Formats: sequence, C-alpha cells, structure tokens
Amino acid sequence: MAFTKKTIRDIDVDGKRVLVRVDFNVPVADGVVGDTTRIKAALPTINYLVEHNARVILMSHLGRPKGEGAEPQFSLEPVAAKLAELSGLDVTFVADTYGDEAAAAVEALEPGKVLVLENVRFDKREKKNDPEIAKTLASYGDVFVLDAFGTAHRAQGSVVGPAAYLPAVAGFLLEKEVSTLSGLFAEPKRPFVAILGGSKVSDKIGVIDRLLDSADTVIVGGGMAYTFTKAQGGKIGNSLCEDDWCDRALEMLEKAKKNGVQFLLPIDNVVADDFANDANTKVCATGEIEDGWEGLDIGPETEKLFADAIAGAKTVFWNGPCGVFEMDTFAHGTKSIAEAIAANTECDSVIGGGDSVAAVNKFGLADKMTFISTGGGASMQLVEGKPLPGVEALNDAE
Ligand code: ADP
Ligand code: MG
Repeated sequence: MAFTKKTIRDIDVDGKRVLVRVDFNVPVADGVVGDTTRIKAALPTINYLVEHNARVILMSHLGRPKGEGAEPQFSLEPVAAKLAELSGLDVTFVADTYGDEAAAAVEALEPGKVLVLENVRFDKREKKNDPEIAKTLASYGDVFVLDAFGTAHRAQGSVVGPAAYLPAVAGFLLEKEVSTLSGLFAEPKRPFVAILGGSKVSDKIGVIDRLLDSADTVIVGGGMAYTFTKAQGGKIGNSLCEDDWCDRALEMLEKAKKNGVQFLLPIDNVVADDFANDANTKVCATGEIEDGWEGLDIGPETEKLFADAIAGAKTVFWNGPCGVFEMDTFAHGTKSIAEAIAANTECDSVIGGGDSVAAVNKFGLADKMTFISTGGGASMQLVEGKPLPGVEALNDAE
C-alpha cells in the first residue's frame, strides 16, 4: 500500500547532519546486549544514510530510567558497541544527550560516520514532550528521520519534537511497518484469516472490531475467548473473564454475522486445576468447564479447526498467544498456530504483538513468517486504525 509520508529516499542527505530516532530499546544485562532484533531492524536506514555520505546522529530510549540523570544500567553505550560490531560502521558514543558534550560530538562528526547519543529518557522532559528538548535535539540536525516504529505511538520529545523544526521523513523500517500493517486493510490477498489471542478482551476489542471490516475469517483464542463463551451462556469455571466486556463480545459476534465474516472460537480447551506447569489437566468442551478448573490452552479439536482455516489463507495476521505459552504444559496450542502459519507457504503472514513475536521466536519459526512487527503497542494501535503521532508529524509525500 502507498505510504503517504516522505522517506529518506525523497531527500538529499549528502554531507547533511541527519538526526535519526531509532528504537534501540533492547534487553541489556550487566552491559551485555541480549536480543539484537531491534538493532538489526534499524540497519537498512543507517546503512543507506552512511552510503549516501550523511553524518548520522542516532538517538533512542532504553528501559525505564527515572528521568533524573544517568543510570548506568540504561546506558546506550553497550548498544552503540553492538551496532558497530553488527554493522562494521564507524560508530562513536557520547555519554550526553542534551548538553554541551553532545553538541560538541555532533559538531565533530564527519560525513559517513555514526554518533550514538545517550538515552533520551535520562531527562524527564523527554516523556513530557517538552519543547525545549525538542529544540535542542533539532539543533543537532539538518534533517529529522523517524525510524523508531516501536515508539511511534508515543508523542514524546525525541519522537515527534524535532519534526516541528526540521524537514521530517520516515526511515525504511517505519515505512515497511506502516505499509505492511495498513496493507491488511487495503487490499489483502484473500482469504484473509486473522487470529487474535492473549489474555484480555479489553486490550484487543478495537483490533477485533476493525478486523471484522477486512478479514474473511476472525479466530479468537487464548484467555479472551472465555469472555465470549460466558457472554453466550457457557460455563467457564475459573477461566479468565472480563464480565464488563460480555456485551461488546456479543456485539462482535453480531458484527461478524452482518459482515459475512466467519468467526471461530475454541470448541475444546485444555483446563487445569492450578495456574502452574505441573497442574492436573484435562480436555474439556467449550462451555462445560466446571468450577475449580480454568482454561489455559486451546484443545486438540480446536487446533485442527484453526489450522484448517489457516491452511486455506492467502493472508494471515496473528496477534496474541492462544494459551499460556510461557508454561510448556500450555504452549501446544500456540505452537500449533505458529506451525500452521509456517506450513502455509502460499500466504503472506504478518505477526504483531510482543508476546506473539516472543512465541514465534521461542518455537524457532520466525524465518518462516513474511513479516514480524518490531512494535507491540504501535502495531496494535495501527491495526486498530488509530493514527501514530510520530508518523503524523512527518512531512507528507508530494
Ligand atoms: P501480545 O503481546 O502478543 O499482544 P497479549 O499481551 O495480549 O499478547 O497476551 C499474552 C498473554 O496472554 C500471555 O502472557 C499469555 O500467557 C496470556 N494468555 C493466553 N491465553 C491465556 C489463558 N487461557 N489464560 C490466561 N492467560 C492467557
Ligand atoms: Mg503482550
């Protein structure tokens, strides 16, 4: 689908100071970077800028510092080192974000080289979207690039601020994320099958609602399926349920009928007598769960039902595990979904959501998916049809 904002392809970056907001919010423990997915995802933009002789200034947040000055465990220094290692580029790091040291490092930066600033959240004003810090950051660049898809839904200083003062364009990751996720609603290849899971209906109702306007089949599994079952008068025992959301759940079933969308719910469940890996378990038909038992995974018949629907799809969108996949006893259903998607080599598969992506990685199936979103909250907001402030702030394509 057409992306409506300017990108780095549309501007001249030769010799320019290019201020790039990336999402380097990666796990760091004892100075060692864990999963490097987010660093790798930023490389196409960084490499492009270096190849085009830009002076590249990178900024990001990492973790949740208090915002009252530097906290070593949240420093971007090890991330800068990892970037140098992964990219082979000339990367320097400056332990300052808004002060004289950062300004001096920017001043000294040569074309074709990369500078990483310290964590933007070491100052409280970042999250408050304070105009002063936006001005300071903007003073470092001739151009602003947003490539931090994972934070594009937050109107914070380094995400939206510089766009008020500088030409502002999208990087390649942001462009790819937004066009892929909005493409689900433009012209998806059909049949389009969407699978929603996770624990809370309240988190996902907006997503289900919007998908009912586009998908051919909507599958609901995971903890939130029990709210649908209860709403229809079934017994759910001690399973997760949001009573306040039963009416909305029924509305979704009505909407599916009205729009001619097939709506699949679990037909059987793995139930347990405790929320624990070593609980006693049994398989129980939907709507027949006794008190003292809770549904923690989809059952074998449901796995087949869902896998059959997925097998016929040309487009698949998946968000939300179908069971408590963190515990091996209840991971089978989620794994079966991931395997069914992986086995359908004819379909475009788009995976969104922090835990769903973690599940795909856990089962070693990431390379079988067409697209895995790097943004949890941002991807859900986009799929819900809500604008992302970071994207809104960019210049429109001509
Ligand atoms: P995502 O991050 O992919 O958007 P969510 O955060 O909505 O997914 O949901 C993930 C959580 O849902 C997981 O921690 C998982 O254990 C939980 N979950 C899935 N099924 C159940 C269930 N039947 N009962 C309780 N929790 C569940
Ligand atoms: Mg989650």
